[in-house]
Amino acid sequence: MISVEGVAIDTRHWIGGRRVASDRTFADISPIDESFLGDIAAGTAAEVDAAVAAAREAFPAWAALSAPERGAILRRVADGIDERREDLARVETRDNGSLLRSHRRGVMPRVAMNFRFFADYAEKLAHPDMEIRGHRERVTYDPAGVTAIITPWNAPLMLATWRIGPALAAGNTVVLKPPEWAPLTASLLADIAHEAGLPAGVFNVVQGIGAEAGAALSKHPGINRLSFTGSVPTAGVIAAAAAPTIVPLSFELGGKSPLLVFDDCDLDLAVDLAVEQFDNAGQVCLGAFRILVQESIAAEFQARVVEKARGLVQGDPRDEKTDVSALVSRAHLDRVSGFVDRALADGARAILGGAAPEKGLYYPPTILADAKPGSEILTEEVFGPVLTFQTFADEDEGVRMANDTRFGLAATLVTGSPEKAERVSARLNAGTVWVNCFFVRDLGAPFGGNGKSGIGREGGTYSFDFYCDVKNTVFSPNGWKESSHG
Ligand code: NAD
Repeated sequence: MISVEGVAIDTRHWIGGRRVASDRTFADISPIDESFLGDIAAGTAAEVDAAVAAAREAFPAWAALSAPERGAILRRVADGIDERREDLARVETRDNGSLLRSHRRGVMPRVAMNFRFFADYAEKLAHPDMEIRGHRERVTYDPAGVTAIITPWNAPLMLATWRIGPALAAGNTVVLKPPEWAPLTASLLADIAHEAGLPAGVFNVVQGIGAEAGAALSKHPGINRLSFTGSVPTAGVIAAAAAPTIVPLSFELGGKSPLLVFDDCDLDLAVDLAVEQFDNAGQVCLGAFRILVQESIAAEFQARVVEKARGLVQGDPRDEKTDVSALVSRAHLDRVSGFVDRALADGARAILGGAAPEKGLYYPPTILADAKPGSEILTEEVFGPVLTFQTFADEDEGVRMANDTRFGLAATLVTGSPEKAERVSARLNAGTVWVNCFFVRDLGAPFGGNGKSGIGREGGTYSFDFYCDVKNTVFSPNGWKESSHG
């Protein structure tokens, strides 16, 4: 047991409804001040085996419950999350360095919603019957089995529950491998789920390092679905590890998304949307870090973005006034500053920030101009508070530059013309396109990326298409006998 922000946390695994220790541990460090938070159980293949076995054992009874029966338990989990919102918010902030005010007001309410929304959705899930030559076809959603879920640190509990919610609502059981950089709230979720009455083995947590616990889980022959959120290189390793078992994969990966600013736009809105990209210190998969602005307004737009970004308050994420916090780890800070240093050496110009802090993990908001076309800073995901500015002459060039990426997670455009919005959004290569807005999304809408940004879509029916074995049953009009007994 450790205490973080006054909250007691059991840092062992949660397997088959009980706490399980490992021989080895790893150290959890807070990004806020690089202080030591505690030793966390480092899972190996043995704990992964035990968790998958527990999940397999729990599966038939959980799958046999009706959607409303499962939903009742999942809504109690959501209630438990709401009751412990402040604990979860404080622990997550200390663990991954994201803003406390965001955790309190946006993230933790959404964590509870991830359970409620999919519990409700599963109850209404229905596909209309089809008919062919007098035959009736009925589509049903059967639980698929054990779902392995591997998640990153930038929004640990939100991203985990966005997968756990639909997987459990579908009737699957779950083994979660949380990120080693921010493992704590997963452990609290196990307590909350247990207290809400989730049966033993339905939800399991194996803590550990990606290359050990994560690797053992991704190649495990006992899993029926593998849902991964993280980086492209890790996705490649996981896909290779999972190949022999041919387990269906859902991948939500990185991005290098554009913000396309046209000269007919509401400039105040465009400036706000650009500065919003420093949210979570840029550690956001959807972030529009490539700012593409039409030449005729570039100078004014750039000056206003820089001025507004200078006003951002950087500091301790527990302070309500803070806008930009720390990066998650020293290794990540070195990675981010490496990208910026190489870009500057390659001819880019820092018009804001651009130098690593002398102390701490608080990399400053940075804006780079004049990067060479095709250079690393314009093509690779930095995952930090670093924006690039480029200009375009007209609509065709803007669209071409926006689509000049191997990713395709999101794209945002700002224009005052409804016709242009229709034309441009249709041509953008991205799983989500935002027009004059950012980050707004219903949980029923499809979410996922094109290209290197992922495989598949989740959200609403798309989640159940993945977590279920979708079955088609065809009833012939012929061959029936009169029966009085049904
Ligand atoms: P990461 O790929 O390093 O790690 C993600 C998870 O994979 C962690 O739990 C880690 O332990 C595990 N892992 C690492 N090596 C593994 C292996 N060999 N086998 C199995 N599991 C392994 O990613 P990260 O640095 O934690 O997160 C940042 C990345 O996540 C960025 O690329 C970001 O864009 C992406 N991301 C995507 C979305 C999305 O929805 N598209 C959301 C958030 C973050």
